[in-house]
Amino acid sequence: MTEKFDVIVIGGGPGGYVAAIRAAQLGLSTACIDMNTGKDGKAALGGTCLNVGCIPSKALLDSSKHFHHLQHDYAAHGIQVTDPSIDIKTMISRKDGVVKKLTGGVAQLFKANKVKQFHGRGRLSADHRVEFTPHASSETIMLEGKDIILAAGSVPIAIPNVDFDGEYIIDNVGALDMTEVPKRLGVIGAGVIGLELGSVWTRLGSEVVLLEALPDFLPATDQDIARQAARLFKQQGLDVRLGTLVKSATVADGEVKVLLEDKNGETEMAFDRLLVAVGRKPYTEGLLAEDSGVEINERGQVSVNEQSQTNVPGVWAVGDCVRGPMLAHKASEEGIAVAELIAGKAAHIHFDTVPWVIYTDPEIAWVGKTEQQLKEDGVAYRSGSFPFAATGRGLAMGDAAGMVKMLADEETDEVLGVHIIGPSASELIAECVVTMEFHGASEDLARIVHAHPTLSEAVHEAALNLDKRAIHRGN
Ligand code: FAD
Ligand code: AMP
Repeated sequence: MTEKFDVIVIGGGPGGYVAAIRAAQLGLSTACIDMNTGKDGKAALGGTCLNVGCIPSKALLDSSKHFHHLQHDYAAHGIQVTDPSIDIKTMISRKDGVVKKLTGGVAQLFKANKVKQFHGRGRLSADHRVEFTPHASSETIMLEGKDIILAAGSVPIAIPNVDFDGEYIIDNVGALDMTEVPKRLGVIGAGVIGLELGSVWTRLGSEVVLLEALPDFLPATDQDIARQAARLFKQQGLDVRLGTLVKSATVADGEVKVLLEDKNGETEMAFDRLLVAVGRKPYTEGLLAEDSGVEINERGQVSVNEQSQTNVPGVWAVGDCVRGPMLAHKASEEGIAVAELIAGKAAHIHFDTVPWVIYTDPEIAWVGKTEQQLKEDGVAYRSGSFPFAATGRGLAMGDAAGMVKMLADEETDEVLGVHIIGPSASELIAECVVTMEFHGASEDLARIVHAHPTLSEAVHEAALNLDKRAIHRGN
């Protein structure tokens, strides 16, 4: 017998589970199929983000930050500690606890909203029929949905001649579960994931070397911010080698030998562990039966239009398996928009105001255009900035590295981009996203009352500086 639903979601990550909850809230009978299994062998919703991405990486970033501050920064506050040490197993099990709490929380939310959870694999066939293979079984069950949402996410990209073995050559999953601090950790790729996970293990005592093929550091980031980041990360001991292409890696005698090519030719480096963090690719393996009719584009993504519709009516796709930035909040907002469109409501997403965050220390966050993009596009703009070193709060906290940089249209003053490197940049960017969403001007931010003393005063003063009237710096 075929079980029928209004909506079937395949994938229970931030794209899929949020879509399922929203669909159920809107009165649609909803099922969500997810095949992920947690460390305890049970179903664990939340996808990459909750299980092996955003959340565990932030848990370890926080633990390692406490340890780093304890060793390097507390003395300035008069706090003396002799011989601080960290028990990595405890740190990892705390992280596992955070993950379990959140994945279990999603299961509770499913129950509360009457979303039916299926633990196993889903595969879309013709006519909105979904073949479900329960976890640890080969028998299949047929489901049918009036609408289908594909939210299958992404997996790490592997590079030729560098084979994951789960022990010496690892991806994000392995790097979030090491139970000892490797003396030498090589990281291929100085992108978001490489920098975040590289920071964790540097703070815990590894000698980390990031091997990056591109000649520029964080090329998608505003270059003023990227320059500051490169300087600050270097001070922290992160060794970033730009223009360094990894060609192969082999494991022998308990270490990884990496063959790389830079401007001086080919050389070899040895590490105790090698993390491959060269990006992620959409995961669509086994998702679509031959007769599903759903198109996959040349980049391996499920093809969708602006509204996340595939070429098959009533089949939608969201998150990392479609175009656009691979970010959890982008996936979730797409999921909500699709559920609302299915329920007959109006919905849309502004991709121009999706915020980006890199959770290094200091954090990096931005929204909108970089200065280099505005130049390329020939847009006339004005720029303002403000350093955290000139904020009372930053100094009081002893955490005042970095700055806010704001870009606004020269004629209309509409804010076109805001770029922050500094403490709590991930939180400060929200006000800038709101401003841009409402097509606000720098004048608006300059006139809004910001509490004192807060870090948000740096946003306020950057807006004032744009008009050459910052109070606590020269203009
Ligand atoms: P996913 O989270 O990948 O979920 C897809 C789910 O579908 C998985 O559970 C998968 O098992 C399941 N699935 C796939 N195919 C099938 C099938 N056929 N049947 C059943 N189930 C299936 N983003 C941020 O915004 N902020 C961050 O701080 C951040 N940090 C990150 C750190 C790391 C180390 C990594 C790896 C990623 C990070 N990301 C971050 C990215 C973020 O995790 C993804 O953008 C997000 O998880 C995408 O959500 P999704 O729902 O599209 O897919
Ligand atoms: P991101 O896409 O932000 O996760 O970043 C991944 C980074 O890995 C990019 O900056 C790539 O240039 C880099 N990269 C990809 N392949 C290699 C390689 N073989 N050697 C070194 N760096 C690489």
